[in-house]
Amino acid sequence: MRIEHHGAVNGVTGSCHQLHIDKHNSLLIDCGLFQGTEKDNTDSNDIEAQLVIDFDISTVKALIVTHCHIDHVGRIPYLLAAGFKGPIYATTATAALLPLVIEDALKVGVTRNKSIIRACIKLLKNQLVPLDYKKWQRLDLLNNHSSAKIKFQMAGHILGSAYVEIDLTLASALPSALDKDENKAKPAKHRVVFSGDLGAPYAPLLPAPKSPYRADTLIIESTYGDKNHQNRKDRTKCLQNIIEKAVQDNGVVLIPAFSIGRTQELLYELEQIIHKQKQRPKYRNSFWHNIDIIVDSPMAAKFTQQYINFKELWDKEAKRELSSGRHPLSFEQLYTINSHQEHLQTIEYLAKRKKPAIIIAASGMCSGGRILNYLKQFLQDKTTDVLFVGYQAKGTLGRDIQKYAPKGNKPGGYVYIDGKKITVNANAETISGYSAHADQQGLINFVKRMRIKPHHILIVHGDEEAKASLKAQYQLLLPEALIEIGQ
Ligand SMILES: [Zn+2]
Ligand SMILES: [Zn+2]
Repeated sequence: MRIEHHGAVNGVTGSCHQLHIDKHNSLLIDCGLFQGTEKDNTDSNDIEAQLVIDFDISTVKALIVTHCHIDHVGRIPYLLAAGFKGPIYATTATAALLPLVIEDALKVGVTRNKSIIRACIKLLKNQLVPLDYKKWQRLDLLNNHSSAKIKFQMAGHILGSAYVEIDLTLASALPSALDKDENKAKPAKHRVVFSGDLGAPYAPLLPAPKSPYRADTLIIESTYGDKNHQNRKDRTKCLQNIIEKAVQDNGVVLIPAFSIGRTQELLYELEQIIHKQKQRPKYRNSFWHNIDIIVDSPMAAKFTQQYINFKELWDKEAKRELSSGRHPLSFEQLYTINSHQEHLQTIEYLAKRKKPAIIIAASGMCSGGRILNYLKQFLQDKTTDVLFVGYQAKGTLGRDIQKYAPKGNKPGGYVYIDGKKITVNANAETISGYSAHADQQGLINFVKRMRIKPHHILIVHGDEEAKASLKAQYQLLLPEALIEIGQ
């Protein structure tokens, strides 16, 4: 058995790992898109080169999807185009979301041709196999010497997200006829765990991930391998404070957010803030009473509906609110923008009216999507606040805005959006505690709380510092184990 990485090693995007079971059989775990400048490619501006499936898929027996963020699933159409015909396993919720995500990705990044999109989605749906959490699924392998089964466990990252346990019985590890000494035979069973993206404890809406009972080999993400988050109370308070400060000058608050996951978390917390404010006597005079909260994304609206459909996957707190008659993902001041025309009109309207508003739009790293038009319009405006609630990968516009926004007495620099040079006069704020990723302590606990701990850990999905820092922590925890940084 060996593991080959086709992404998410020089950064956090492009997740795609190939588990070679033997020479006839392999599995793919995720098949994501690169974002920013993360693909280690001399020609990193060549988008086609980044998308192409540049590895042999002839042994791939199944694709296992941990969750439907674009940097974990975005290359699926290219995998299908390359001739992959095997099953695509995902949790039931992920399977419901995936066609929406892929359809959107195709529309935005590849083609407007409806029949091509339809054909691709049809293929995808034919190959998708939804699985329940916590149930083993046996995989079909070529030849009967090796066998494999998989099981999804809740990862608490976004709706439907999972880490996957893969039980292998390896042909090479079976005692051969020539090998009379049975003690020499290695244990035939091997459990490989791919973490996917792990959620943070106390994240809104979804329950925190529980560690697996056992892992022999663990492939783990390390997005926040060198950082610990602010606690949840601070974070909600922080969100409230920043918004309250931001709206004083009647400017807009722009929140770049992935349509899936982050947007729903934000709505959930905004509803909580508003619910608390309602109890206060001065609520009707406060801006919270009538501020417009705009979700400018038809996709986000669809995903929010899926979050509501799968409410049995919510955590206890969210379920309690629901049963007390509240609607954690919808409230009066919430507006959803659908058509492109409506989107453009909204920007025009907001630019003219000089009244505060909170706008949530994708993409989360400002690398595309409707947030770009808002940034183009409002970034040069001093009254604007850009609020980052997620990780900004190197080379993304989001990272640049964080870097070039005015700081103290230092005036802002500039960024390029669609080739246009734009001065950043807007204030930029970052709330790290919002992340849907486990922090360093969370990643340590994930391993610490396993009954049978891995003797091999491969660290992926993080910047260099994060991976190195997490590696040192794991080495302390498991001095005997082989801890490697995936390459
Ligand atoms: Zn993710
Ligand atoms: Zn990820």
